Amino acid sequence: MRTNSNGRLEIGGCDVIGLAEKYGTPLYVIDEQTIRNICKDYKSAFSKYEKVKMLYASKALCNTAVSSIVASEGFGFDAVSGGEIFTIYKSGADMSKVLFNGNNKSFDEISLALDLGVGRISVDNFFEISLLNELAKSKSVDILLRITPGIECHTHEYIQTGQIDSKFGFDLSQIDEAVELILTECENLTLRGLHAHIGSQIFETKVFSDEIEILVKELARINEKYNLKLDEINIGGGIGVKYTENDCPPSIYETAEKILTSLEKAIEKYKIDPPALILEPGRSIISTSGVTLYTIGSSKQVPNGTKYVAIDGGMADNPRPAMYGADYSAFIVNKEEISLQKVTIAGRFCESGDILIKNINLPNPEEGDILCVLNTGAYNYSMASNYNRVQKPAMVLVNNSQSDIIEIRETLEDLISHDVIPDRLKK
Ligand SMILES: *Cc1c(COP(=O)(O)O)cnc(C)c1O
Repeated sequence: MRTNSNGRLEIGGCDVIGLAEKYGTPLYVIDEQTIRNICKDYKSAFSKYEKVKMLYASKALCNTAVSSIVASEGFGFDAVSGGEIFTIYKSGADMSKVLFNGNNKSFDEISLALDLGVGRISVDNFFEISLLNELAKSKSVDILLRITPGIECHTHEYIQTGQIDSKFGFDLSQIDEAVELILTECENLTLRGLHAHIGSQIFETKVFSDEIEILVKELARINEKYNLKLDEINIGGGIGVKYTENDCPPSIYETAEKILTSLEKAIEKYKIDPPALILEPGRSIISTSGVTLYTIGSSKQVPNGTKYVAIDGGMADNPRPAMYGADYSAFIVNKEEISLQKVTIAGRFCESGDILIKNINLPNPEEGDILCVLNTGAYNYSMASNYNRVQKPAMVLVNNSQSDIIEIRETLEDLISHDVIPDRLKK
C-alpha cells in the first residue's frame, strides 16, 4: 500500500477509494504482488537447503484464483477437506504436490483425494489407517504419519510436556504400533515420513527447533528399528505475522535460519541422510496480502462511555475478534490522521460480541467514511459465514493498477438458492 503523487492511497496500483466505489463494501482486497513477494522470500530464505518443499496451507484462504497464484510460485498445498482439494484441482494446480491432512477425513473425501491424484495423505489416527488401506486397494498411496511432538505453543510462550492432549495425530508412544500396523497389514500404503504442526501465530522460533529435534529423532529411530528409509519431515506452518504494533514476529529469514540450523544439528546428532523438509505456511503467506474495506454507518456515544462506530460488516466476514479476541489495525482511507478520537468499531451483526476493534484512534469517523482493516488475508474469507443472512462480500485481486473480481459478491438470490420448501408446506 502506498500514497500516490496526488496524495491518494493505492494498493496494487489501484486507488483504494476507487475500489470501494467500484465494487462496493465490505470488500476483501488481495494484493497479488505481496503474495508473490512472500512466496519468493520463503524460497530464497530456505534456498540453502536443497530438499525443501513449500506447501501453502489452504485453510488460510482457499479459492481458485489464490490457489493458481500460489501454485505458479512453485508451491504445493496442504489441504484439509474435499472442498479445498476440489478448489485446488479446479485451479489447475499439480495435484501430486497436495498433502491431505485432517483428524477426521471422510470416506468420500479420501476417495476424492485418491481420484484426483493427491500426492500425500497425512494419516492422523488408527481408524484412518484402516479406512485408507481399504480405499487404497487398487492403488498405492504415499503417506506421512501425523504425530503430536509434545510441544504446545500458546502464541508467545509455550509449554513442553511428555504427552499432550491433542485431537491431532499419534502420541509419541503410539508411533511404533502405527508403523507396525502399516508395515504388516497395509501393503498399499507407503510410509514416507513424519508430519507435525505445533500451532499458529508463533513468534518464538525455538519451538521449531524443539519440533525438528523430535521429528528427526523419531525418524532415525523408526528407520533403524524397522530398517526403513523414511526421508521426509513436515514441520507444519504457524509462522506469525504483525497484526498490530504490539506484535513482533521474526522475519521469514530469521525463522529459516533457525529451522535450518536446527535441522543440520539434528541430522548430525542422529546420523541420518538429509531428509526432505516440508513447510506449510498459511497465515504468513496470505495475511498481509489482504485488507478489508468497510463503509462507516451509524455511531453511538454512550453517555460518559464508549463511542461506537458501526461498519457494514463484522463477525460474519471476520470472525476472529469475536471468536478469540484477535486484534487488528485499521485507518480511515479518506481522512488524514489528525484530531484523533478514541472509538470502538462495532460490526453490524446481532451479537454484542461483534466488535471488530476496541479503542482505536481514528480521525473523527463519520457516516460514509471508508475504513481499511489491515492484515485480513488469512482466516477471514475462509472463516466467513452468512450469519444474519447477510451476503458474503466480494473479493478483488489487484496488481499493476488492475483490479479483477475473484469472488463475486453474494446476492439475495444466492442466499435462498439452497432453500427448499417441502410440497406439503406449499399453499
Ligand atoms: C493450520 C495449519 C497450517 C497453517 O498454519 P498457519 O498458522 O496458517 O501458518 C499448517 N499445517 C497444518 C497441519 C495446519 O493445521
